[in-house]
Amino acid sequence: MRRAWQSTMIGLARSPRVKRWVQNTRATSTIATRYVAGETARSGVARAASLLASPGIRSSLFYLGEYVDTPGLVGENVEAKIEVAGLLGNTGMDVHISVDPTQVGQTLDPAMARRNVFSIAEAIARSSNNRPGVHALMLDMEDASVTDATIKLHDDVHAAKLPVALTLQAYRRRTQDDLRPQIRRGSKVRLVKGAFAAGPDLAFPRQSEIKENSRRLIDMMLSREARDAGFYPIIATHDDRLHAYTIERARGNGWQAGEYEFEMLLGVRGDVSHALAKSGERVRLYVPFGRDWWPHAVRRIGENPRNGWLLARSLVGNA
Ligand code: FAD
Repeated sequence: MRRAWQSTMIGLARSPRVKRWVQNTRATSTIATRYVAGETARSGVARAASLLASPGIRSSLFYLGEYVDTPGLVGENVEAKIEVAGLLGNTGMDVHISVDPTQVGQTLDPAMARRNVFSIAEAIARSSNNRPGVHALMLDMEDASVTDATIKLHDDVHAAKLPVALTLQAYRRRTQDDLRPQIRRGSKVRLVKGAFAAGPDLAFPRQSEIKENSRRLIDMMLSREARDAGFYPIIATHDDRLHAYTIERARGNGWQAGEYEFEMLLGVRGDVSHALAKSGERVRLYVPFGRDWWPHAVRRIGENPRNGWLLARSLVGNA
């Protein structure tokens, strides 16, 4: 049932006709407002400000430009990331921006992607201007074909002492080996389960194995050695058992709330993120903005069949 629901939603996310129809005629639908902050950088920053005001949740802004396959689209993405860095800089909030390497040209021209990543990281450094906060260009991790390149981009930007962070995926078999040097280096790493398809030679096929590996990686990220190295753990999941596990490991190894953080997606399990923030944990939401909101929103709906009501209500309510 879950699988059939997910593949229907992935089909909807990929259909250019459906996307055009929904985005052009239903831009203010319930779905868009739940999962996406709005179309412009200003609306992203406004949503980040309201989340910080209550209940004290931080944000990572993400410009929704997916399936980027021309230099023109790459340019649009880079401009949007730099614009939002400038706007965040004026607010006093964290200048924290998520970037997919393929959005900034990784598959078109890796040298161009490298220049673009450095430009965005420099804009973040300028806008945050050494004030306190967690400022970073957060590199999202995409499919296995770009893993090495993404880690290399991170390491080069880190070596240049620019604000950068890296996402690693618990479903990949290699991740413990990728994590070790990042801990030694005192990097900022966001741990996710992984959202891309990969064969059993590269990835754990079963959910139970992915969860077990998540716990092993959390053990490494919240170890005493990691704390001594100045490492910054970011646990990005909606899985409340992993939240509890993280807090238990943190307390056992001398980490205080605020020395690590949880990250979740805007619109997903808001009750859980609010409860974590209320209990004194540092929480961040991934806040997407941009015109191209449909593929992101429909994937969130596809993650849980119970979200069917939201899709139906939105379409009927706007018909
Ligand atoms: P799950 O086991 O999927 O879910 C835990 C619980 O939350 C379950 O009860 C489930 O039903 C519920 N839940 C999950 N999603 C929904 C939903 N949409 N609606 C309602 N309930 C829901 N993946 C990558 O491969 N690369 C990345 O760079 C990346 N960046 C991410 C950044 C952030 C901040 C987050 C939160 C996720 C990111 N992901 C990324 C996606 C990630 O890999 C998982 O696919 C996704 O988070 C689902 O796994 P989960 O850990 O939340 O646990």
